[in-house]
Amino acid sequence: MEVTRRQALTAVAGAAVGAAGAVGAVRLVEHLDESTPLPFYGSPVSAVRPDRSPPSARAASVVWGGTGEERRVALTFDDGPHPKWTPRVLAALEAEGVPATFFCLGRNVRDHGALHHDSVGHHELANHTFDHPDLGRHDWAGCRDQITRTSRIMEQTYGATPTLFRPPYGHVGGAAVLAAAELGLTTVLWSAQAREDLVAAHPDGIVDDIASQVRPGSIVLAHDTGGDDRLVTIDRLRAVIARLREEGYAFVTVSALLAGSSATATAASHA
Ligand SMILES: [Zn+2]
Repeated sequence: MEVTRRQALTAVAGAAVGAAGAVGAVRLVEHLDESTPLPFYGSPVSAVRPDRSPPSARAASVVWGGTGEERRVALTFDDGPHPKWTPRVLAALEAEGVPATFFCLGRNVRDHGALHHDSVGHHELANHTFDHPDLGRHDWAGCRDQITRTSRIMEQTYGATPTLFRPPYGHVGGAAVLAAAELGLTTVLWSAQAREDLVAAHPDGIVDDIASQVRPGSIVLAHDTGGDDRLVTIDRLRAVIARLREEGYAFVTVSALLAGSSATATAASHA
């Protein structure tokens, strides 16, 4: 049965979804709200394959940060690469000699991939879907498609396949967890973030605000693409780095952070 993306399978009212043959008794809805009954299989929240075939992964890894008390932090930048801000972020990182992890959109790698040619082997390049959908509304096939197309174009462009995946908006349903695990990716959220909206009236406050959130093992979310409010952080990136250095933090990529902690950085084992 074909299920289009951005739609979810929903059992017709009263249908026993688990009953044999019930898979035919479905209708498609545009979205799920609280009154929508969730089907056992095939919806964005299901971590079971829609056809109930065995998963090709035995476990999933979802992390918000590294563990342990070592003062290490990973800076991450989402949604690029894009000519507008990415070069400014790279220049600030280079000036400070700091590695970072970039969660790239496949469509931006396709259109602006050359921006990261010097990043290979220094920064970490990771998967942030192809065009930034809300995977909380995508079924297993839709999630697989978004992740696969992005890894493929990143491999073609940079010669390496990403091992980390970040879901847009931090939205993960069971389908996204399963798809990422089956594709060998660790799902990476964050434990601190640039909150430009909180410091709009006093943008220099971004330094204090980020520093106040950082703990040993923190993964810090920021963006190298987006509206002008992103510049609050981008223009003060060197100051943020300097502050965290004063507080004893060393900067590492996400994979290095996870490799040095009990959280696994390795992909889920494949069946
Ligand atoms: Zn994003």
